[in-house]
Amino acid sequence: LVVLRRVNKHFGALHVLQDIDLTIARGEVVVVIGPSGSGKSTLCRTINRLETIDSGTITIDGRPLPQEGRELARLRADVGMVFQSFNLFAHKTVLDNVTLGQIKVRKADRRAAEQKAHALLDRVGVGAQAAKYPAQLSGGQQQRVAIARALAMDPKVMLFDEPTSALDPEMINEVLEVMQQLAREGMTMVVVTHEMGFARSAANRVVFMADGRIVEEARPDRFFSNPRSDRAKDFLSKIL
Ligand code: ATP
Ligand code: MG
Repeated sequence: LVVLRRVNKHFGALHVLQDIDLTIARGEVVVVIGPSGSGKSTLCRTINRLETIDSGTITIDGRPLPQEGRELARLRADVGMVFQSFNLFAHKTVLDNVTLGQIKVRKADRRAAEQKAHALLDRVGVGAQAAKYPAQLSGGQQQRVAIARALAMDPKVMLFDEPTSALDPEMINEVLEVMQQLAREGMTMVVVTHEMGFARSAANRVVFMADGRIVEEARPDRFFSNPRSDRAKDFLSKIL
């Protein structure tokens, strides 16, 4: 579904993505881990073209990423993204946050968009918050709204960049549970996370990055019990 071939990206002198080859199949859950600065966020951001690449190709459903305009808006709808910092529209209600893209990008009519929004908000457990503004919600609730907002676009793939890192501990599980549920339902997902419990239970594959490269890729059971590279061994010894 998502194919990266020899993708390279620099920030000035920094070679942040180096010859990245990655194929994500439909329905697959790929967890990306690695040290700070290894390029995990940049990798996610290239997939929905929040960052451009210097060389290589990225295709989704066999089609190269569009450059601009309406096609780009549609790409961003097809590739749902959830950030560490929630990124909800602060001056819009929860309901409006979830209907806006449906109406603007997917051209849904308001009634249908609101119906779908209510159903999704119920599904992630924040149905009662629809009329509130993001600042009136807990972090865990805001993040679940952000997930509902992305899902409202019927994305082909969902990218999560450390979705629980900004949350108080007691709110982490409520967000991970929503993600687990999505994974079970067959959503194609790329998840950057330090939650190794999630990686073990939800991932089909763990991708370990270091210094802009994919150093190791394996099934989670194999990766955690028997990492091959020294970089991965070193990383795991520090976090487990
Ligand atoms: P973390 O675990 O801390 O989130 P990461 O693996 O997500 O790290 P990236 O955010 O992808 O890492 O950053 C990779 C490298 O690129 C870092 O050295 C970072 O400082 C640098 N970088 C990221 N974005 C930019 C930018 N817009 N301009 C210049 N350098 C950047
Ligand atoms: Mg990051």
